[in-house]
Amino acid sequence: MSLHYVKSFVAGRWIAPDANAREIENPITGDVMAYAGCNSIDFNKMLNYAHTRGGPALRALRFHERARLLKSLATALNEHKQALYDISFSTGATRDDHRYDIDGGIGTAFVYASKGRRELPDDHVYLDGSIEALSKSGRFVGRHICTPLQGVALQINAFNFPVWGMMEKFAPALLAGVPVIVKPATATCYVTELAVKLMLETGYLPEGALQLVTGELGDTLDRLTCQDVVSFTGSADTAFTLRSSPNILRNSIRFVAEQDSLNATLLGPDIHRTAAEFSAFLNEIVREITTKAGQKCTAIRRIFVPQSLVEAVIDDLCVRLGNIVIGDPRNPKTNIGPLVSSAQKHDVLRQAAMIESETERVFGDRHNFDVVDGDADTGAFVSPMLFYCKNPSIVHHVHETEAFGPVATIMGYHELDEAIELVNRGGGSLVASVVTHTPEVARHVTLGAAAFHGRLYFIDHHNSQDATGHGVPLPHMLHGGPGRAGGGEELGGIRALMHYMQRTAIQGSPDILSEIGNNWVSGATERFAPEHPFRRCFSDLELGETLWTPSRVITLKDIKKFAEFTGDMFYAHMDDAAARRNPFFSGRVAHGYLLLSFAAGLFVEPGEGPVLANTGLDRLRFMKPVVPGDSIHVGLTVQQKTPRNTEYGEVRWHVTIRNQDKDIVAEYELLTMNAIDNVHKKKTDGPLTF
Ligand code: NAP
Repeated sequence: MSLHYVKSFVAGRWIAPDANAREIENPITGDVMAYAGCNSIDFNKMLNYAHTRGGPALRALRFHERARLLKSLATALNEHKQALYDISFSTGATRDDHRYDIDGGIGTAFVYASKGRRELPDDHVYLDGSIEALSKSGRFVGRHICTPLQGVALQINAFNFPVWGMMEKFAPALLAGVPVIVKPATATCYVTELAVKLMLETGYLPEGALQLVTGELGDTLDRLTCQDVVSFTGSADTAFTLRSSPNILRNSIRFVAEQDSLNATLLGPDIHRTAAEFSAFLNEIVREITTKAGQKCTAIRRIFVPQSLVEAVIDDLCVRLGNIVIGDPRNPKTNIGPLVSSAQKHDVLRQAAMIESETERVFGDRHNFDVVDGDADTGAFVSPMLFYCKNPSIVHHVHETEAFGPVATIMGYHELDEAIELVNRGGGSLVASVVTHTPEVARHVTLGAAAFHGRLYFIDHHNSQDATGHGVPLPHMLHGGPGRAGGGEELGGIRALMHYMQRTAIQGSPDILSEIGNNWVSGATERFAPEHPFRRCFSDLELGETLWTPSRVITLKDIKKFAEFTGDMFYAHMDDAAARRNPFFSGRVAHGYLLLSFAAGLFVEPGEGPVLANTGLDRLRFMKPVVPGDSIHVGLTVQQKTPRNTEYGEVRWHVTIRNQDKDIVAEYELLTMNAIDNVHKKKTDGPLTF
């Protein structure tokens, strides 16, 4: 096979490895298969290129434009998935492993593209939380906003997920509006190289938005500024070295770390050997030991079971692991490919020996095992290894040594509190799973263990078929953990963007805050609507445009009729004496929902027009009771506009219902879908779905 010279992509140019390049080993044969690294890269130019080209170009785009860009990149990767699969076999990854790395990476980008359009405004500013009233008059208010950092995201990744590891960080950074420099681990950087090439070839990325360094980073860390972010995934030792570099410390440069993790799984005290959960528990463990040959930061390393079930768990796991095929990942029968390199194999065997010094090996041999289409001596193959630790409370290596391979240890417990204490001995982990069908057990574990883990994963027989997997980080949920796990957080939906944005408190008048946030704030200037706003299409509506309705008197007859019609006979609406006994009312009051219905009756324009549907209502508050004889009138103001597609967009209306004294009796935000342009198109393919 010809040698692969893995390039870097810096300042708009592909740069080949030079004489200082590092060798990359084929883990199946032990031969050198590629070279990566170039000492002559101009790292200053690389940073400048991101700062002066990529950053401004990305910041000029709105969140929705960036989300669409991300979707196009994910689509391009998806179309070339097979090429990524083909090259990934050389890392030791099997066909099943590709689902986690390649499909997982592409899926993560798709989720962020979708979240970007659904959950972010079509704007440059992200609003964090509600308006804070800072003065009695309402003329001085505050709010938190987030804007993209004006630097670069330097993303240093581990070897085990060359695609997912890049995409899970790249997607949020791009959506946030920050250019990225990816530095993959050298051992598998040729897979990342292909993924980067595929994205660049789309031609959609602005210049400088994505650069790639294969090999070493030179003095890049010393050149970063307070607007840059380092997002690191790898071992605790490397994280410590990098995060303590003087420039990072001196300039308070953000450093997000995801590192080792001694993840645990706990079989609840309520589960018996015949329960469906028992089998789900074993399946999960086998999957975690075998996937990526155990080279997964979230893999189960420690297994806690009620003491009475230790023997059964060992027996069943040994049977299942006995059926596992180790070999060349291209062979469809193979369940476990080699580790990424012989150096990694050496480390894992050394770490397994440390664990073995405190335990008994119940499955797997360090040297004697069968390999399909490969050689156990020359390739980086390792057999799954299972250990049993009799005295888990007095040992150390078992709780502190991460053997980054197919290695796990079983431990028994007598009481749930003892199990929780042992689970927490990992010193901070990415995930702990608990197999239980007893909600009280789940809560007890949560109160005792949540502080030590980034994610708690509960399965029972109801959800085990649907559950996404102990070791699978999802873009919607946090990935990270305290202490030993690095103290960082990634993913977690839109939260992930915050690593790449600055939160700023803004104080000022409602008009200033409306303009900054592109979101009308109560108390800001109201604009006269030239016609009924329901007759105006999405593109014509302007923030602050307000309709004030005529007023309507609420009578006792209205209240009675509404109660009979809806069946809502709550005593406060029907029984004057009972209502008086309630501390909030001085007699019968109108239903809140009657007020909402009458409000709609006052502001709705009945004719067919650009308003297509009412899709919801947020932040509803009833502030003052309305009694028979009171009158109400309504203010309807355009608060925010968010396009959804080329046909329609969401309008958020601020609605206030006031009484005859101008006191606010109710306030809420109404959501409608409005046609983008003046031609109201009737849909021919059935009702709109949201
Ligand atoms: P590693 O040896 O710590 O390397 C991680 C990254 O840091 C690689 O890209 C490496 O590049 C780079 N690096 C090393 N020294 C550097 C330096 N002085 N300056 C700049 N960059 C430097 O970790 P690994 O062996 O790749 O990955 C295995 C570890 O990662 C395991 O401990 C695993 O638990 C952890 N991991 C954690 C997560 C998580 O999300 N928490 C995910 C995956 C893996 P080179 O390869 O070029 O040296």
